[in-house]
Amino acid sequence: MRISGKTLVAGVAGSPVTHSLSPLIHNAWLQAAGIDGVYVAFPVQDKGFEAFVHGLRGGVIRGLNVTVPFKERALALADAASPRATEAGAANVLVFGEDGAIAADNTDGVGLLGAFKIQAPGFNVADGPIVILGAGGAARGAATALLAAGAPEVRVVNRTRSKAEDIAALSGRIYAYDLADAGAALAGANAVINATSAAFTAGAGLDLPLDGMLRLGVAMDMTYVPLETPFLARARNLGHATVDGLEMLIGQAEPAFEAFYGHPPPASVDVRALVLAELERRR
Ligand code: NDP
Repeated sequence: MRISGKTLVAGVAGSPVTHSLSPLIHNAWLQAAGIDGVYVAFPVQDKGFEAFVHGLRGGVIRGLNVTVPFKERALALADAASPRATEAGAANVLVFGEDGAIAADNTDGVGLLGAFKIQAPGFNVADGPIVILGAGGAARGAATALLAAGAPEVRVVNRTRSKAEDIAALSGRIYAYDLADAGAALAGANAVINATSAAFTAGAGLDLPLDGMLRLGVAMDMTYVPLETPFLARARNLGHATVDGLEMLIGQAEPAFEAFYGHPPPASVDVRALVLAELERRR
């Protein structure tokens, strides 16, 4: 890679962020597309997030992906936001205009739905209730994206019930459940998505009655290390289709790349293979 005076800079801001796979993905696309650009990770301290982002106004860099724990604050500081970012109450993409304005977007929902399309092509979002485990920023974005895509009902199951209720307040089609009531939430469900940062392993007190799901239901885990989490392995053994978090990661990166550089990512790069090789190297 050659850095020139015209090199376009973008990156990902978070804490922690040095483990992020986004630089690997975006730089591979930049190189294949022949774009004079570079994508880096910016570890940002909690107190300094707003000052960091405001300091980039005016086109110093093209754009930022934003990750844990700053997605809500990213939306709050933007001058404009897409409807899907506003609905999700969080932004994972900030685009910097030359006039100094910052536009927020949320591509996590696109990534989630795209992952289902690729790995569970028989899945129809409109066919029945969808259960989301967890009520953090990722769950909130998933719930609003699923409703917008036609899900008839979303059931949010969370350890801290009040956070599930906060998400349920967004729509009359979202319902809150305690973790202890996961069985009731899963009864008759069309799909279950793990959007917690917990492993959900058998024997860890978070064993889920996945057999209550509709036959041929789909299980998805936003976590991608390991690629097949204990939760996904169990769902697969029960005969459910599974969708992994890596496909979502790649799916959310695609529209972000286009927003930063004005080109869709080149199809010639097998980013999934690239990321899998990197994960293997890190093991
Ligand atoms: P948050 O920190 O905002 O939320 C974490 C959630 O996990 C909360 O609901 C929390 O419950 C729950 N939780 C944590 N530990 C446990 C436990 N031991 N038992 C039960 N529940 C638990 O995180 P995010 O919403 O931002 O992200 C969630 C996960 O999704 C992360 O692993 C993240 O890496 C992943 N992710 C993946 C993406 C992808 O592209 N593949 C995109 C976005 C996120 P409580 O409210 O009770 O604390």
